[in-house]
Amino acid sequence: METLKKSYIKSINPFNNELVKEFEVMSNDQVDQIVDKADEAFKSWKNTSFDERAKIIHKVASIMRDRKQELGKLATLEMGKLLRESIYEVELSANIFDYYADNASKFLSDHPLETELGEAFLSYEPIGVLLSVQPWNFPYYQITRSAASALMAGNTMVLKHASNVPQCAQIMEDIFHEAGLPKGVYTNLFVPGGSVERIVDNPKIKAVALTGSEAAGGSIAAAAGKNIKKSTLELGGSDPFIVLEDVDIDKAVETAILGRMWNAGQVCVSPKRIIVPETIAENFIQKAKTLLASLKVGNPLEDDTVVAPLSSEKAAQDVAGQVEKAVANGAKVELGGKRIDRPGAFLEPTLLTGITAENPIFFEEIFGPVVVIYTYKTIEDAIELANATTFGLGGSVFGNDIAKAKEVARKIDTGMVYINHVTGIAPELPFGGTKRSGYGREQSPAAIYEFVNAKLIRVTSPENLY
Ligand code: NAP
Repeated sequence: METLKKSYIKSINPFNNELVKEFEVMSNDQVDQIVDKADEAFKSWKNTSFDERAKIIHKVASIMRDRKQELGKLATLEMGKLLRESIYEVELSANIFDYYADNASKFLSDHPLETELGEAFLSYEPIGVLLSVQPWNFPYYQITRSAASALMAGNTMVLKHASNVPQCAQIMEDIFHEAGLPKGVYTNLFVPGGSVERIVDNPKIKAVALTGSEAAGGSIAAAAGKNIKKSTLELGGSDPFIVLEDVDIDKAVETAILGRMWNAGQVCVSPKRIIVPETIAENFIQKAKTLLASLKVGNPLEDDTVVAPLSSEKAAQDVAGQVEKAVANGAKVELGGKRIDRPGAFLEPTLLTGITAENPIFFEEIFGPVVVIYTYKTIEDAIELANATTFGLGGSVFGNDIAKAKEVARKIDTGMVYINHVTGIAPELPFGGTKRSGYGREQSPAAIYEFVNAKLIRVTSPENLY
C-alpha cells in the first residue's frame, strides 16, 4: 500500500530562522467537510439578531485587548514585526470588531427607495459562506478586516491564512469560539495557496475576499469569475509620497522614513516612492540618510529596535535581489543595500536614488526596508510620476498649503490619499485601491455591502392592481 507523505505548514521565527511549530496540511476531504459545516452553520447564523452577533463580536474585541501582550508576542515570533507594532495591530483589530458590532444593524437596516410605484426598499441579506484568503504582514488585522463586517452581516467564513502565520490563525479561531461564536461560523483552512482555486470552485462557497499579491489576485479573480462569484481584491501598492515645495523638511523626512520602515517596509500602503522637489532634494536626501542610518535594526522584542527582520529568509533574499537589480540598471545606493551578516531575515535599511522609468524596478513593488527618492521640477511632473505605475492603492501629499495639497490629492490615481500623513488605517475609513491594486473596499460602511444581497422588495397594494 502506498504511504502518503504528510506535508506541513511551518511557523518559523524570522529573527533567527528557527522552526517554532508545524501544522499538518489539511486534505481535500477535510477542507470540504469544513466548508459543509460552514454552509450548515449559515442556516442558523443568518437568522440570529444583530444584537446576538454584536454580543459575540464585542467579546472577541475584549478578549483580544485582554490578551494583547500574548497575541502581540505570537505575531512577532511568527513574522518578525516589532512587538509594539504587533500590539498596536491587536488594538486596531479590536476597534474594528467593535465598530461593526456597534454599527452593522444601522448599516444594514432596510433602505427605502423613492418611487412612484408604491413602497420599495432594499433589504440587505447575507449570502452564505465567504472564503477569505489573507497575507501575513498584519496577521490579526487582515483576518479582522474581512471577518468583522462579514460575520456581523450574517455570513459565515472559512479562512485561508498565509502559510507562515498558522499560530496567529489558530489563536484567532480559538478566540472566536471562546467569545461564543457557534462552531462552523468561522474556521481555518490549513492549506497552501496553490489549493485555493479548488476551494473557490466548491458551490457552497458563495464569494471570495483576497488580500495579497497580483499573482494570487489574478488567479482567484479568474476562479471566482469562472464560477460567477463575487470577489474583492486588495493587492499590492507602490504609494507615492509627494513633498510640496513649502514643506517643513524635517517633518516630511521623519514621516516618510519612519512610515517606510513600519513593519520593516512590508506594508501595502507604505510610502514606497518619495517624490521631492529638485530645489530641496539634496537637503532632503541628506536628512533622510542621516535618520535612516541612526535607526536600530535588531530584535523585534526590544523596545528600542526600529527596523525589524523581514518576514522570512525568502522575503529578505527577494528584496536584496530587487536592490541588486535596481543598481544593475542604474540606481544609486545612498545607504545600505546589503543583507546584514547575522542570523535572521535582515536587510540593511536602504536608500536608493537615480531610478528612472527605464529601470525595471521602477514598476515593481519593493516589500522591504528600502526608501526610494525621486525628484521633480514642476508639480505636474510630480503628479505624472506618482501616476506612472500600474498600482493605485494609497498615496500622500505633504506640505503646509492644504488647498494645494488637496488639489494634488485629487489628481493622484489611487483609492486613498492622505495629506500630511502616510496612508493610514481607521475602522470608519474605507481601505482599498484601483488599477492593479484591486477592487472593493474594506472597513467603513462600504465593506459591509460587499458581501450582502441588496434585495429589492416592492409592494403594490391589492387595491391598486390593474
Ligand atoms: P501572496 O503570496 O499573494 O499571499 C497572500 C495569500 O494568498 C496567502 O494566504 C497565500 O497563501 C495565498 N496565495 C498565494 N498564491 C495563491 C494563489 N495562486 N491562489 C490563491 N491564493 C494564493 O502575497 P504575499 O506576497 O505574501 O503578501 C504581500 C502582498 O500583499 C504585497 O503585494 C502587499 O502589497 C499585498 N497586501 C495588500 C494589502 C491591501 O490591503 N491592498 C494588504 C496587505 C498586503 P500561501 O501563504 O500559502 O502562499
